[in-house]
Amino acid sequence: EKYGIGQALKNLGIVPENSGTCTGSNWIDTDEGYLASFSPADGQLIAKVQLTNRDSYELVVRQAQEAFLQWRSVPAPQRGEVVRQIGNALRDVKSDLGKLVSYEMGKSYQEGLGEVQEMIDICDFAVGLSRQLYGLTMHSERPSHRMYEQWHPIGIVGVISAFNFPVAVWSWNSMIALVCGDVCVWKPSEKAPLSAVACQHIIAKVLKENGLPEGISSLVIGDYRVGEFLSHDSRIPLVSATGSTRMGKLVGQAVGGRLGRSLLELGGNNAIIVSENADLEIAIRGALFGAVGTAGQRCTSTRRLIIHESVYEEVKSRLVAAYGKLVIGNPLDEKNHVGPLIDEEAVKTYLDAIGKVKKEGGRELVPGGVLAGEGYESGCYVRPCIIEAENHYSMVQHETFAPILYLMKYSSLEEAIAFQNGVPQGLSSAIMTLNMREAELFLSAAGSDCGIANVNIGTSGAEIGGAFGGEKETGGGRESGSDSWKAYMRRQTNTINYSNALPLAQGIKFDI
Ligand code: NAD
Repeated sequence: EKYGIGQALKNLGIVPENSGTCTGSNWIDTDEGYLASFSPADGQLIAKVQLTNRDSYELVVRQAQEAFLQWRSVPAPQRGEVVRQIGNALRDVKSDLGKLVSYEMGKSYQEGLGEVQEMIDICDFAVGLSRQLYGLTMHSERPSHRMYEQWHPIGIVGVISAFNFPVAVWSWNSMIALVCGDVCVWKPSEKAPLSAVACQHIIAKVLKENGLPEGISSLVIGDYRVGEFLSHDSRIPLVSATGSTRMGKLVGQAVGGRLGRSLLELGGNNAIIVSENADLEIAIRGALFGAVGTAGQRCTSTRRLIIHESVYEEVKSRLVAAYGKLVIGNPLDEKNHVGPLIDEEAVKTYLDAIGKVKKEGGRELVPGGVLAGEGYESGCYVRPCIIEAENHYSMVQHETFAPILYLMKYSSLEEAIAFQNGVPQGLSSAIMTLNMREAELFLSAAGSDCGIANVNIGTSGAEIGGAFGGEKETGGGRESGSDSWKAYMRRQTNTINYSNALPLAQGIKFDI
């Protein structure tokens, strides 16, 4: 109550135990039992929500199919107008929703607000996009023929999201999909269902005010089993899934097995190269936020620092000193820099990873550990740690979703780029340098192999205007800005003959 969570839940219209499966404004009683949501901030039960079962899932999909027939014919700019109103509704509840995200997921309140701001930004982006779903026109090789392409809505988009961005990932997908004329079924992470319920209330109100039918934006609740309903369902032409590489391989196979489309946003293993030509102040600050922000639970968190040998000792000692100043505690208290991990299982994974990397030869520069005592009762608070390691260690090759930063040395930029690229994942990357040749080489075809490559910026904190995603085991999907919208539509090539003849392409003769 100290942080006004009860009031925020009330303002967001959440009625616990009544919520769960929903086709819009219609909450379906599933009789399937409950999913409890605990806060990693204080270990308290926040609320329980109802699980989706097969029958209620069927209701949701049938309603979505019906709604699609109507929504696809609403002119795109009018769909944009609805999304504009959703953006405004989000503005109205920014602090309440930011607070709930912070309390349920454990990221700092500032980052919770940032996540909601990202939702607002993508709404604005999608509104503009609703008048820009451009297709190309081509010159036909046949006389008096016209060729062009158009983009049509694809149908139902299934959205499976991870716990760490419990609301923004939904909006990246859904707001774009909605202006594209699709309808959405969202299965949020089982670790943050209440934030999803809050979003459902927000969007439902706007859809209702616009006289739109049930089924345009639906919610289903549960773990991987409900996710599998979506991935195996051939009525869902596109499944956009965000989460671990392990999950992405399963979803990709299930969707691929029925020749559906998947858009995969999976794990990262992001590195910053700190060159001898870096502005070290910026490098340290970028690495610090990248490694400890969201307690290392961002897909773009900085996991590896590849440092030129001539500045290695200086970077190391400045970073160790900065870690010494970090304040760890309740994410809703703005004096704290680092909040908890999502749950005790994540704490165990963090401890295991530290143990394993030490066995492989890693040396702890800032030791890890679990915090206990007043304020840390949830058992989810850990110390961000720094370990000197080598790139080939199996734990360094692996994404551990926790604040563990690996430091390593390089002598030539080619070697640093080889380290940077020498992991299975390919999401985000950065170089800190004031040297133009180094920066350009890093961004060139012979440079970073990631979907995101930055100069003098850390690896985390992307803006919605660009396409977001990564290569290799990150899954290859792109979401959010640029022309990512194309993934949510089907392309149709149209050729129109306005002549009195019927010439064939490639000059083929076929006369009778
Ligand atoms: P997770 O893979 O455990 O779960 C993600 C979602 O997938 C959940 O909703 C879960 O219920 C569902 N799921 C799991 N197995 C499934 C299956 N077999 N079929 C269908 N659905 C299934 O991931 P998490 O722990 O919630 O999130 C952390 C991971 O997400 C990290 O690896 C992180 O890098 C990644 N992530 C990636 C991005 C990105 O954009 N690339 C963004 C955020 C998080």
